Amino acid sequence: MTTSILFADAQLVDGSIVDIATENGLIAWIGTPSQSPVVCLKTINLDGYVLSTSFVEPHAHLDKAFLADRISNPAGDLMGAIRGLEAVRETITHEDLVERATRAVHLMSKNGVTSIRTHADTTISGGLSSIHALLEVKKNCAQFMDIQVAMLLEWPVTGLAGKEHQALARDAISVGIDVVGGCPHLDPDPRGAVEFLVNLAVESGLPLDLHADENMRPASSDLEHLADIVLRDNLSHKMNASHCVALSTRSETDIDRIAAKVSAAGITVTALPQTNLFLQERGVSTNQARAITPIHRLQQAGVIVAAGADNLQDPFNLVGRADPLEIASLLMISTHVTADMAVQMISSDAHQAVHGIKSALTVGQPANFVALPATNLRESIAMGPPDRIVVYGGVVIDNQIRNRK
Ligand SMILES: [Zn+2]
Repeated sequence: MTTSILFADAQLVDGSIVDIATENGLIAWIGTPSQSPVVCLKTINLDGYVLSTSFVEPHAHLDKAFLADRISNPAGDLMGAIRGLEAVRETITHEDLVERATRAVHLMSKNGVTSIRTHADTTISGGLSSIHALLEVKKNCAQFMDIQVAMLLEWPVTGLAGKEHQALARDAISVGIDVVGGCPHLDPDPRGAVEFLVNLAVESGLPLDLHADENMRPASSDLEHLADIVLRDNLSHKMNASHCVALSTRSETDIDRIAAKVSAAGITVTALPQTNLFLQERGVSTNQARAITPIHRLQQAGVIVAAGADNLQDPFNLVGRADPLEIASLLMISTHVTADMAVQMISSDAHQAVHGIKSALTVGQPANFVALPATNLRESIAMGPPDRIVVYGGVVIDNQIRNRK
């Protein structure tokens, strides 16, 4: 049940101190402390906290969370992780998957996340098992987390060999997925795969989120193919490209040319530095590249760039704490963005990648925010403090709510 609450003496990202009144799940008023015109039933003092619009995890794999100790990946690279997972897929039960995914969702919630887009393996060997389990988790957690389930379609999706996967994709849509997705860079015909997945998204009326250019080959061009198709067909459809690390291997001229197209096409990009740094550039000992999409140049061209964690303690990324502030810290270190920009990428820009609009702490917006016990944003990123206050739809989320079904 939603009640009106006054969140008093909160420090905003810009350092100003305000009171925020919430009512019916929305931000009803923001202003000078102690002058709220809204009669609130309850006051929560946020003195000593920094307030941000809540975090959004734009790219998770909840079905794989916490499998690190059950799957070996001696090569340590992307294909090693995929093969390792495939070798144990039949040992993953529905209950097992729901339990691990739920554990990950609870952790993210405690850390200030109120919205997750999770990809769900959609393979011939596993069928729709990940999708069914994650749709169940989505339902169970709906009171405190807005979850989108994206199909992660196995390859190939082109040619004769792709027919079975194409049929599987249509089955996935029929059981209620929220987002179409796949990995064209692994298909024998990457451009054809992008074309198929775009058509599927448009036909089904669902957003598209591709695992694009998740490699360090300069010839990999999923992102450019996607932008070309959108511009050619004049599509206005929610589309996001995740990873896009191959773009970092191109010349500055190429990057700017592609970034301009991506911007014109309205495609958002999601950077996933933790998993990309873990899986890419294995065995390279000199001039090792950072394997992160060129965030600054994309932003300069007007592209919205979100940031997420991707994998959580599985063979694709053995570490991770389900905390977007960990990703913000990594962004500051590895890509030299400011603290303000790092938090924008894990909150409002991630919201745009997932929901098509930015989130903001303004009157009329959903009351979704996180209060971080810290003196400022930089310190919150550095310390990753526990005991955050998380508000979703105007409700302060606690374990009682998280454990309710
Ligand atoms: Zn992924």
